[in-house]
Amino acid sequence: MPTYCFVCDECGKKAEEFRPMAECGKAMKCRCGEKMRRDYVAESPGRHLPEVEIVCVSMGVDRSQIAEETKALRERGLTDFEFRSDGAMVFKGDAHAARRARDKAAAVIGESIEGRPWRDKDGFN
Ligand SMILES: [Zn+2]
Repeated sequence: MPTYCFVCDECGKKAEEFRPMAECGKAMKCRCGEKMRRDYVAESPGRHLPEVEIVCVSMGVDRSQIAEETKALRERGLTDFEFRSDGAMVFKGDAHAARRARDKAAAVIGESIEGRPWRDKDGFN
């Protein structure tokens, strides 16, 4: 029997259930009383990707600039990153998410990469 995933839009609860394929469309009731809907994203194979950590030394900053640079990048809409204590940029998540975050950061940083000697455009990753 396949596993089906459900999510409640009301309270955010997620659930999984083994059930026969014939019953895959049957609604599941959440403990908050609402109906849960099928969560196709959660059911996609990608969710089983292992957590990874991508460290980008080349997109890093000097240690003295970590706070300032974090703030500046967050203001520019970059949220899925952190700087390691040595200044390297780190992206965490499953392999897809981490890579997406890295590419997004590369794009944002790339716009202003010229004139920043501590960053090497060709050395991402
Ligand atoms: Zn609910």
